[in-house]
Amino acid sequence: MASLQNKVVMVTGAASGIGRESALAFARAGAWVFGADRDTAGLRQTNQLAASEGLRFSVSEVDVSLASDVERFTAHVLASAGRLDVAFNNAGITGSAHRIEDYPVDDFDRVLAVNLRSVFLGMKFQIPAMVRSGGGAIVNTASVAALTGPGGMSAYAASKHGVHGLTRVAAMENAARGIRVNAIAPGWTETPMVAANSRQNPRFAELARTAIPVKRGADPKEIADAALWLASDAASYVVGQMLVVDGGMTIGG
Ligand code: NAD
Repeated sequence: MASLQNKVVMVTGAASGIGRESALAFARAGAWVFGADRDTAGLRQTNQLAASEGLRFSVSEVDVSLASDVERFTAHVLASAGRLDVAFNNAGITGSAHRIEDYPVDDFDRVLAVNLRSVFLGMKFQIPAMVRSGGGAIVNTASVAALTGPGGMSAYAASKHGVHGLTRVAAMENAARGIRVNAIAPGWTETPMVAANSRQNPRFAELARTAIPVKRGADPKEIADAALWLASDAASYVVGQMLVVDGGMTIGG
């Protein structure tokens, strides 16, 4: 496993799914992890899991779509640890599914705020903190929907295409300052987000899993491993990339 020994790491969406597994994986790799989410109960559970393993971990209630919350969270990490080495901007929602002409405008704005504005806000405050820390690594969570146009999912796909674009711009602006910015694009991953969607449409979920070349969804731990690698010095020459982790879902075009 790649090492994050003594790195200071912030992770959003740490109350559940990919964010929880990644936050725990980062801490197991030696990092001091600050987890953020708006779900207080889920955060408490993640914190308990970390405590049961004796990991260096703390959690904060944060709404990633709000500039004031994101700025406060970054300031809290700096005040506590004195530096910031790694950020995993991962919190997200799928939003509702409708054709574009039927898509509620408020739903569209909410998905863009939680999935895309959050990544802009995160990097806006993380980059100056990393410059002061002498460099760092940022990983943003996109999706295979950053490469495809899943019908009904205009807000989600637009937000994730946006995450890909923001990642490239941030990588270009910061590579010479020792800050690497990359994205991961998970495919179908068996998290509470997907479980909720599968309950609504079990037939679609069954078909979707069958269509994946490896014939299963990802364990969130498999996405966490990819995020950890991108964030670590093992990926020191990887800059501005989106690493697709999808069991082959997108290789057939
Ligand atoms: P999840 O629902 O298990 O976890 C998402 C977390 O984000 C939750 O804890 C939720 O409370 C938090 N969150 C949502 N809105 C927030 C806000 N405004 N402020 C703070 N926290 C907020 O889902 P997941 O599957 O682990 O998703 C994590 C990321 O991975 C998302 O960005 C998602 O789009 C992406 N992703 C997931 C899949 C998948 O198949 N599960 C595939 C591709 C991409």
